[in-house]
Parts: sequence; structure tokens; C-alpha cells
Amino acid sequence: MAKFTPAPGLEEALARIVAPSVHRIAQQVEIEARRLAPPVKRWVTVADDKVRPTHVAAQGQEVPGNLRFAINSMDWDRRHRGVGAKTYMREPRDQSSRAVANIKNCRCTTHSDPDGIAKNINTGQPVVAGKKVTVTVTARGHLVVEAEVGTVYPGNLVADGAHFMSRGTAIVAARR
Ligand SMILES: [Zn+2]
Repeated sequence: MAKFTPAPGLEEALARIVAPSVHRIAQQVEIEARRLAPPVKRWVTVADDKVRPTHVAAQGQEVPGNLRFAINSMDWDRRHRGVGAKTYMREPRDQSSRAVANIKNCRCTTHSDPDGIAKNINTGQPVVAGKKVTVTVTARGHLVVEAEVGTVYPGNLVADGAHFMSRGTAIVAARR
């Protein structure tokens, strides 16, 4: 049986040759992850003097679309509805948050930015170390890990993960 022994430096040279291909595959992962990333939603009040203080404090709060806003609780809800210091709402007037006082007569809305997460997903340059080529696709941003894998809020309120990075990777892998 013949044994192939690569010439000195051949594997390292091959790693440099395939590096651009690995980079292109990673860029495809970036494209799919951007497509699958949830939007970022922002809490918006009507900004008049009747907005309750807990929603004044929430003005401008941004969270990934599959997660919940963390709103300061109102005393009535803490005493009667068993919420803690924060009330977790998917959107204004969200009854699943268990709040009553903190959603009554609320006029707040949300603004959604579809590129809020996608714009911060990027592909790095290939790094060749010996025989190994590494390209990293990175998602940066507030609560981006929770957006990917999901989270559980107090009161057992479950937010499912969007899995945009892992699904993007799986889609590209299935093409190979
Ligand atoms: Zn409100």
C-alpha cells in the first residue's frame, strides 16, 4: 500500500488556495442569516403628558422582534397580578404579560426596523493557520444571542429563538 506524503508546505499552500472558496461559502451564510433575522422593534409613546411613567421610561426601548420589552411594573399589577419589578410585553397592551393596570388605556405603538439585526451580520476575512482555514460570520447587537436561541422570562413566558444563524448555516450546508 502506497502512502502519500505531501511535499513540505503543500497542505499549507492548499489551505491558502481554498481560502477564497471558504470565504464565499461564509458569505452565503451571511446572506441567508440576514434574510432570516427578525426585525428590531421599538416602543413608541404618544409623548404627551398623559403617558404613564412606566411607559415614558420605555420610550425608545429596542428589542429583537421575537423577544419581549421589559417594562417597569405598576404597583397594582405587582400586588394583584404577581408580576415582578418588570412586566414583559411583546407589544403595548399585551395581555400575555399578565398586566392589567400597565396595559389599560395604553396608546403606545411599536416601530419595526426589518434590518435592525440583519445590518449587523458580517463575514470576516479568511484566516489561514497552517492547514486550517477559518472564516467567521458574526451577528452583533443588543440581545442578539437571545434572539437566536430564545429566552424564558419570569413567570415562565417563553420566547422562541429565531435561529437565523443556525438555519442560515443549515441552508448553505444543504447546497453542498
Ligand atoms: Zn402606553
